[in-house]
Amino acid sequence: MIVVLLGPPGVGKGTQAKLAAKANAWTHLSTGDLLRDEVARGTELGGKSKDFMSAGELVPDELMVAMVAGRIAGVGADEVLLLDGFPRTVAQATALAARAPGGSIRLSLYFQAPDSVLVSRMLGRGRADDSREVVENRLRVYRETTEPLVALYREQGILRQVDADRGIEDIQTDVLEAVREVLRDPTRMLRKA
Ligand code: AMP
Repeated sequence: MIVVLLGPPGVGKGTQAKLAAKANAWTHLSTGDLLRDEVARGTELGGKSKDFMSAGELVPDELMVAMVAGRIAGVGADEVLLLDGFPRTVAQATALAARAPGGSIRLSLYFQAPDSVLVSRMLGRGRADDSREVVENRLRVYRETTEPLVALYREQGILRQVDADRGIEDIQTDVLEAVREVLRDPTRMLRKA
């Protein structure tokens, strides 16, 4: 199944996904990590993406969908694929729904923390796109373009909120609990969040 990790930059989605994937042999797919790797290797996709990334803007949907389409279409029945950083636009969510095997998108974890926490986490991690100005733009882009996806997954009844303003272990407990609950009973609709 596919688990969509939603939430603002700096909320800790990547940290949580890495831990959960490692402990359970699940797959973690981070589009940000893939793009940073493309930039580091100097590929054509990296070249097309790097100016958007360093400005805190989104890389165009066509490039993003092309990058992950095969992986999404090929998700195995027994696999748990944690999607971190994708989809980020309604167009990407539509492309995801069209390519994912029927019924495979069964959970969206929506991580939340106050802006002050997000900003200090981002400024603390020392990435090239984490200067104060770019951080503020990333948050603005998130609110305008990505946050509407929360309503989309809530309407589908698959959204589960995660309070990410806590310690890493406490958050991880909730993440594992939510995924395992769906794994145990895939047909059960989650209570509307
Ligand atoms: P992240 O590590 O997920 O915060 O991503 C870092 C940067 O990569 C973002 O600020 C965007 O410029 C770009 N990026 C990652 N995922 C996407 C996506 N799904 N759509 C557009 N741009 C993306």
